[in-house]
Amino acid sequence: MAFSTYRKLVSVLKKNCPVAYPVSVRRLHLAECEGDCTKLKDKFYIRIDKGLPEVGAIDTLIHEWAHARAWNHLYDNLTWEEFEAVAHDATWGVAYSEVYRIYEQVFLPEINATNMCKKVRPK
Ligand SMILES: [Zn+2]
Repeated sequence: MAFSTYRKLVSVLKKNCPVAYPVSVRRLHLAECEGDCTKLKDKFYIRIDKGLPEVGAIDTLIHEWAHARAWNHLYDNLTWEEFEAVAHDATWGVAYSEVYRIYEQVFLPEINATNMCKKVRPK
């Protein structure tokens, strides 16, 4: 299945890296950016550009998930430009490190265990 590793990361983040509200993650054709995160009512919407290769989609997902995790209610009514100016602050940086830690310590070991037969060669 295409993008199966990416899809697995979405599941791992939903299970192991919770945010304040449910998260919808979609891959769409985005002309203006590689991804974004918005909050409407009590739900986060993460959009990832469908034109990205899988590794780029994974990188963008980690970035956007950190926005959901670090969301400040003051962001709710900002324009995209206003959000971009303030949303990559230290709070987002800490959230990014938390998401990345889940990626390294939970997601990668699961992926490596799944692919073990392909990577391990007898000596
Ligand atoms: Zn960002």
